[in-house]
Amino acid sequence: MSTPNFDESPLDVAVVGGSIAGCATAIRFSQMGYRVAVFDKKAMNDQSHKRLCTHFIQPHAVPLLADLGLAHLYEPAWSVPTKAVFVTPGGLVEGPGGYVPGPPDSYALNLERRVLDPALRTAAQKQGVQYIDSTAVESIEEDESGWILNTRGESGSHPFRARLVVAADGRRSRLAKELGNATEEHPNERAALFGYFSGIKTREDNRSVFIMNDRDLACVYPLVEGRTQLVLFAEKARVEGWQGADGRLQQFMNYFDDLPDAPSMAEAVPETGLLGYSDYPSQVREPVVGSVPFVGDAALSVDAMSGVGCGFALVSADLLARSFADRSLDKADLTAGLAEYRQRFEEVLLPHVETICGDSLVEKNEASRQRMFQVISGNEELSQKYLALSGRMLMPNEFQRDLVRALMSRGAAGLKR
Ligand SMILES: Cc1cc2nc3c(=O)[nH]c(=O)nc-3n(C[C@H](O)[C@H](O)[C@H](O)COP(=O)(O)OP(=O)(O)OC[C@H]3O[C@@H](n4cnc5c(N)ncnc54)[C@H](O)[C@@H]3O)c2cc1C
Repeated sequence: MSTPNFDESPLDVAVVGGSIAGCATAIRFSQMGYRVAVFDKKAMNDQSHKRLCTHFIQPHAVPLLADLGLAHLYEPAWSVPTKAVFVTPGGLVEGPGGYVPGPPDSYALNLERRVLDPALRTAAQKQGVQYIDSTAVESIEEDESGWILNTRGESGSHPFRARLVVAADGRRSRLAKELGNATEEHPNERAALFGYFSGIKTREDNRSVFIMNDRDLACVYPLVEGRTQLVLFAEKARVEGWQGADGRLQQFMNYFDDLPDAPSMAEAVPETGLLGYSDYPSQVREPVVGSVPFVGDAALSVDAMSGVGCGFALVSADLLARSFADRSLDKADLTAGLAEYRQRFEEVLLPHVETICGDSLVEKNEASRQRMFQVISGNEELSQKYLALSGRMLMPNEFQRDLVRALMSRGAAGLKR
């Protein structure tokens, strides 16, 4: 899909990686009037999209789609507006009343990557971004006038020049290795399996249901056209024994069938086989190295159970763009813009990492977990805050403070009795 007759004069901004973070960054810098190109190593067509993703866009990131020219994706033809309901060991945690679509940051979106990824590439091209696919950036070098990107495409290797290079090249970031941006890893004790089904009757209010079963999380996501995505984040030992493609699918369906709070599987018809991973540690990198900013998974790729990666990709692109809103790409402005991006990233995104990594460990003390969820479920304000935290609308320390207070007052009430 490369732009034909590509103009090889120096770029203002070269974005390495043309998925969510890369396209979002490219669109925002192009909107500021810069000459931007995105490079992606994969060949792209109208159907190209990431397959290993479960499509839940958290509420904090939903409004950002409109800024990218993608407001049409809120419509029912393209996505399902939804809210989370948690079935916990201490009771139900859900918002009051039925589902009423409100302003875009009051709900999440079940927006499939088969829709989002091509829409982002189209929006980027409409905005004037040059999308250069089938072209891997193999290395970058800096000189007095900026960066040289050494690329390899179908027609061989080729250098490009740019004033700013943005690393949006995902979890296995080549630029991180090139620039010595070390990866801090945190263990994840669960494996993931997911599949697409028709014939499952989900809730009429379109809520996405998250069932904490033992130490697993089983998720039911309504998708467009009455389809359903089922996702299981399970203790590794549980699914290791699910052998062979057919056997695994049957065990997976049996698992959901046995869950009292999951919809019936009686009429479920699998669309495809299962996808998933057996190990997916969280990864954290510096948001800026030298004069190169990192966005999306290249900077922060955490446990998929938290369902935040797409949102964080959109938010990090937004934070970077906002840090350059009133600045040029001249040296002094560039340094100040990157310092601001680092600060925003550390304030807005990093505080979520510790709790997400904590949740990746299988909780051994079931009694204290049950007590905590009884307190959350039994307190309407705390339930709202739990939902806001999971939607990344609230900072973890604010939730923790209120939770500790509620636990203490419950303890005090118990002592008085
Ligand atoms: C099982 C699973 C379920 C998930 N579910 C959710 C969910 O429900 N909600 C959610 O928000 N997130 C979810 N995520 C996370 C989400 O998929 C990622 O966080 C998101 O795709 C990150 O986008 P990105 O643009 O940063 O990186 P990627 O989507 O990884 O894109 C990186 C791009 O860079 C390109 N590239 C790499 N190296 C080069 C190079 N050298 N030159 C040129 N191009 C290069 C690649 O081809 C790729 O297109 C899930 C992840 C997994 C694994």
